[in-house]
Amino acid sequence: WDGPLEKIDDYRWRIPRTYKAGMRVDGIIYADEKLLKDIRHDKAAEQVANVSFLPGIVKASFGMPDIHWGYGFAIGGVAAMDIEKGGVVSPGGVGYDINCGVRLVRTDLFEKDVRPHLKELVAGLFHAVPSGVGSEGDIRVTAREEKEILVKGAGWAVAKGYGTEDDLEATEERGAMAGADPEKVSDRAYARGKQQSGTLGSGNHFLEVQAIDQLYDRDAADALGLVEGQVMVMIHSGSRGLGYQVCDDSLKTMNTCLEKYHIHVPDRQLACAPVESPEGKDYLAAMRAAANYAWNNRQCLMHLARQVFEKVFVSSWQKLGMRLVYDVAHNIAKIETHRVKGEERTLCVHRKGATRAFGPGHPAVPERYKRIGQPVIIPGDMGRNSYLLVGTQAAMDETFGSTCHGAGRLRSRHEAKRVVDFHALMKELEAKGIVVMASGHGTVVEEAPSAYKDVNDVVGVVHNAGIARRVCRMRPLGVVKG
Ligand code: 5GP
Ligand code: MN
Ligand code: MN
Repeated sequence: WDGPLEKIDDYRWRIPRTYKAGMRVDGIIYADEKLLKDIRHDKAAEQVANVSFLPGIVKASFGMPDIHWGYGFAIGGVAAMDIEKGGVVSPGGVGYDINCGVRLVRTDLFEKDVRPHLKELVAGLFHAVPSGVGSEGDIRVTAREEKEILVKGAGWAVAKGYGTEDDLEATEERGAMAGADPEKVSDRAYARGKQQSGTLGSGNHFLEVQAIDQLYDRDAADALGLVEGQVMVMIHSGSRGLGYQVCDDSLKTMNTCLEKYHIHVPDRQLACAPVESPEGKDYLAAMRAAANYAWNNRQCLMHLARQVFEKVFVSSWQKLGMRLVYDVAHNIAKIETHRVKGEERTLCVHRKGATRAFGPGHPAVPERYKRIGQPVIIPGDMGRNSYLLVGTQAAMDETFGSTCHGAGRLRSRHEAKRVVDFHALMKELEAKGIVVMASGHGTVVEEAPSAYKDVNDVVGVVHNAGIARRVCRMRPLGVVKG
């Protein structure tokens, strides 16, 4: 991409709204010189510009440093639309995997405790957690319960005994968004999500055992109960077949809305409808149902992981200190109030491959994190690092309380498959002491560290720009891949 990117400062670049007729606001991309080169590799920046055509958009169309090409919106995109000004909601601004997200669990174990049991632990997790496309799990759910899950979210699992109230306290939205309507979800979506609670899904999704290898903020780490060398569990999954189908269904309807509401966009993948229109409301009601499904899924996955730890370390998960640190969504649209030009506005905030990063004191931040800000969980890749950060006031002021969601893809799956050798990669990971189990060779190769940007660079940008603050960094010990 060779469009204009004007330097604002070392970490911010502007696509001026004069770039294309029809842009309502500027595009702003967070990056340093190094990441900017990667960003120019695909058309993600053009997508940032295209999103600025959407009715009701305020401030700017944002791109995070992990940005790369996606359906309609780039992955790593943030955009907020003013509901009272005809603001729209766009399924492409949420993505196919509605409420794909990450949760992070702490333990009282240290690397030296886990190392001797690592192979058994990873094998245990791999067998307890079904993975791969279309996989079904051991957690039995009746047809009536499948509907209940769409309203109760993670609360369904907790009511079943698969976790505690404390887990909900540490989950964005307490694991269930209000305004979900199971009747807006198609039979086909139900069919595709059937028996998939507590399943990982494919490729990019994972369950990882990690050790904290660096602390950046001792005060925040203390508040989170984290020290160097401590073992953590990170879980990345979403709404499985159900969410995918909800997105697919909505796109058919939304496609007709462009004409109906006279919306002009340069790319039909940006199909959308006003938030207050019947189509917009239906989509949000179905999207929330899928989001709740995803929160329940991650709750079930954590429950299965805790059971494996209990077996391997012959103890209870409570005694092992396996408390949930936090759970974040990174593919979602939410109605939130933010200050725009000094005025409180009600906005539809799209975070597509972007994480909420609310600062200290925000009412949506759990009591125990009020002082430090909302925990932000950033996976990197299976060979290098992942991070825990906290949200900041600067994020509230600049990006509607949002930051990046990962390292971000550097090579397409196809390209990774072509250049990465499976056996060489496994050797390399083994040399680093990382135990990997996956449902197929293909997914490992597609998800090779070299297929991703270096998360250290990406997190460096959001930290230095101030739209999240580093707390600690993790290094992988064992990985279960979808
Ligand atoms: P996405 O939801 O966009 O597919 O993935 C989010 C992020 O997860 C990616 O940008 C990448 O940085 C990270 N990621 C993908 N696979 C792995 C993995 O196996 N381990 C870790 N720690 N991170 C991963
Ligand atoms: Mn996903
Ligand atoms: Mn994801």
